[in-house]
Amino acid sequence: MKIGFIGVGHMGGPMCHNIIKKSGHEVTVFDLSHAAIEACVELGAKGSDSVAELAANSDVIFTSLPMPKDVETVALGAGGIGENAKSGTIYIDLSTNSPTVIRKVAAELEKKGITTIDAPVSGGVIGATKGTIAIMVGGDKSTYEKCLPLFESFGENISHLGELGCGCIAKIVNNMIAFCNMAAGAEGLLLGVAAGIDPSALNQVIRNSSGNSMGYRGVAYTTLKGDWTPSFALDLAYKDMHLALELADELSIPLSISPQVHNLMRMARGMGYGKDDATAMIRVYEETMKIEIRK
Ligand code: NAD
Repeated sequence: MKIGFIGVGHMGGPMCHNIIKKSGHEVTVFDLSHAAIEACVELGAKGSDSVAELAANSDVIFTSLPMPKDVETVALGAGGIGENAKSGTIYIDLSTNSPTVIRKVAAELEKKGITTIDAPVSGGVIGATKGTIAIMVGGDKSTYEKCLPLFESFGENISHLGELGCGCIAKIVNNMIAFCNMAAGAEGLLLGVAAGIDPSALNQVIRNSSGNSMGYRGVAYTTLKGDWTPSFALDLAYKDMHLALELADELSIPLSISPQVHNLMRMARGMGYGKDDATAMIRVYEETMKIEIRK
């Protein structure tokens, strides 16, 4: 089988590296960054000059792209997958995407005989690198089963959740919860330190107590070090939270905590932290209160 992979950044890069090393299939990659392509070529992949060339020569095409509009452009735009992939191609979007957008993409690609499944992932760069990432799949079950060995080459905890878009829904809900935990962690750290407790001691206690969560650990880790080098950019987290609010709007589902966290992310982006790690949302509190929470 010929595999094409478009978007080999923080997440797509390590996932693609595992496919190259473990799947036993020929892999071709395309990215706007030449360096990102080169890292895959060094492991045995072929580099491609365009989406069009990659799509025309692949049986299965993966994308791992930042925004829903990027997926739409690569899939449906000029020179994209729809124009170039042959009938019978399987298209798998690993991005955290809007269920509405992936359904629109799938409907257009179906007219060309291309089957789409959504398969967003969770576990961060560490999980992507170790090949332990969780994969949440929506779409045709038999296509999912056909692709399972491929998923197993770069992930664990692989679930088929239902019709197309269900992977995106699960992922959006997961991230909404994670970012609320992160924001609560930021507030907790601020309150504890303002009240006079040593940040490292407080962190140790929370890690062993009921306040612990992955979101909490993330914000505590970067903040105590004072280093928000992105492994998951705040701009992408903001996009995910936006997708959750958009879904709630479509369904008239009330959300009260998530919009506040979305707003906190807006403030952090306004203060210039959009390209930093998502945990840089704590900088809003630190700067407003003139309190630094460090080891
Ligand atoms: P990233 O910005 O590091 O990587 C995206 C890559 O796509 C970049 O290398 C970029 O050059 C490339 N790209 C953008 N537009 C392109 C185009 N038109 N054609 C070809 N390449 C293009 O982002 P990331 O952190 O790897 O995130 C990718 C997706 O995975 C996002 O949807 C994100 O929400 C999701 N995600 C990220 C994480 C994380 O921890 N970083 C975890 C789970 C899911």
